[in-house]
Amino acid sequence: GLTKHFPVKRGIVFQSAVGTVRAVDGLTFDVAPGETLALVGESGCGKSTTGRLVLRLIEATEGTIRFAGRDVRGLGRGALRELRRDMQIIFQDPYASLNPRLTVGETLAEPLKLHGLASGTAMRRRIDELLSEVGLSAWHALRYPHEFSGGQRQRIGIARALASQPRLIVCDEPVSALDVSIQAQVINLMQDLKGKFGLSYIFIAHDLAVVRHISDRVAVMYLGKIVELAPKRSLFARPRHPYTQALLSAVPVPDPTAQRARIRLAGDVPSPLNPPKGCRFHTRCAHAQDRCRMEEPLLRPLKDGGAEGQVVACHFAESIVPPALVPENDPP
Ligand code: SF4
Ligand code: MG
Repeated sequence: GLTKHFPVKRGIVFQSAVGTVRAVDGLTFDVAPGETLALVGESGCGKSTTGRLVLRLIEATEGTIRFAGRDVRGLGRGALRELRRDMQIIFQDPYASLNPRLTVGETLAEPLKLHGLASGTAMRRRIDELLSEVGLSAWHALRYPHEFSGGQRQRIGIARALASQPRLIVCDEPVSALDVSIQAQVINLMQDLKGKFGLSYIFIAHDLAVVRHISDRVAVMYLGKIVELAPKRSLFARPRHPYTQALLSAVPVPDPTAQRARIRLAGDVPSPLNPPKGCRFHTRCAHAQDRCRMEEPLLRPLKDGGAEGQVVACHFAESIVPPALVPENDPP
């Protein structure tokens, strides 16, 4: 039931509220140990806000967050700091997320000091170890961020997240600012680290090719809601929500004999200040009917036996014929 509403104000001196942005509106999902759950959708759908809510970098308006049995929203300052050891974040922009005045070693020392994890020579050793985990060397510790490429900076961001030995990392578009040639290296590194340390990822992305590579399950978001959630293979093989079908139709398929017709969505994403009534997607949905304009569809399993764990928020999911299918056994 995770919800975040931002009041929108107008005026400089006398501010008056003019409305509420429903950035995240009643999301429910879980992430298992060792699992990567992708949150995908167009910009403004609420995926980054969701990641920040989970870590309490911003406070939710409503809803519950549980981490390893603990009620995250109920934690006081001290308990929250302790929890931050277990939950970390990697940001999208490796250029903006590192302090330019700190050497890489100083950057990595911060979380170690904050959580009382190491000091003195043990700290030096730990910093060298973190650098080597992400494919950098001990001598990089003395350098400043501007001396590194984008890909190397993101490796430093990953090392910083790893410093406190977290169990969950929220990855907010970690490769979308990088050159395509570098993206695969960073993604592969993240996959390796996940296996090695048993990490869970909430992986926020709009690039579905990346999501296809890294995720175990995928939640598709539209205007602050999850419209479809399914295991990756099922979602890519047989998307059931018209919005998911449109998003996937734009992804190149590895098998050229399985090309799908591109579904072009009409219009732009409506403003989250005033989302459409009923199904929020109805203004752009080719299958919309009267019921869609009045009644909001709830996330539910399919009546025709969709994939295990697949839920869809569409009144007519069972009767919508998806576009040409991707082969089930596509190469990884
Ligand atoms: Fe389209 Fe209606 Fe389904 Fe919404 S509920 S996705 S408008 S068919
Ligand atoms: Mg974002």
